[in-house]
Amino acid sequence: MAHENILVVEDEEDILQLIKYNLTKEGYRVTAVGTGEAALKTARQTHPKLIILDLMLPGIDGLEVCQILKHDSATAQIPVIMVTAKGEDSDIVTGLEVGADDYIVKPFSPRVLTARVRSIFRRKAKEKTGELEPLKIREITINPGRHEVLIKDKPVDLTLTEFLILHFLARRPGWVYSRYEIVNGVRGEETIVTDRSVDVQIVGLRKKLGAAGKYIETVRGVGYRFKDL
Ligand code: CA
Repeated sequence: MAHENILVVEDEEDILQLIKYNLTKEGYRVTAVGTGEAALKTARQTHPKLIILDLMLPGIDGLEVCQILKHDSATAQIPVIMVTAKGEDSDIVTGLEVGADDYIVKPFSPRVLTARVRSIFRRKAKEKTGELEPLKIREITINPGRHEVLIKDKPVDLTLTEFLILHFLARRPGWVYSRYEIVNGVRGEETIVTDRSVDVQIVGLRKKLGAAGKYIETVRGVGYRFKDL
């Protein structure tokens, strides 16, 4: 049974209660706050294992909260699932750029929410056991245990999802993966697939990899692959 502490940041009471009810039912301990200011304070004080962050908040909005958390070494490691309104695609892109680890679009089903949460914790557990070995490919070093990517020994700052996609593709160079396979590969099978989110991640990933971004190849009509050696 899960007992991890999750911080939920949401100013709409009915949505907050819905999230809280479903996570509590799963065995998580939930702390709920309604403003960005309270979110920052609570995150620093209680070090939750996960933050579910609505972007539309009074005062400091969710994007800014995420940015502040990810720039503070005390809170940077806490995974963030952002909650966005339908149609606010620019928010999703910005959110992923400022370090959010995943997102969920309103209105969402409780099952999708709990699947995303479980998926984040599963990844974290995998990292903790250190079962994944460091991977060296061309000038890129991927260190799953430490969640670290180096290019020519210089660290690259990736979001969790970008990191997982890079690691997923680089494990089998030349192998073409569909967007569907990529989403499943990094998240687990019970989550809802959004192909478009993979494209957003790949764009961000290539940009951050700089010259090494060319190794992430688009295979037209199929998906993506890490360039074969
Ligand atoms: Ca809101």
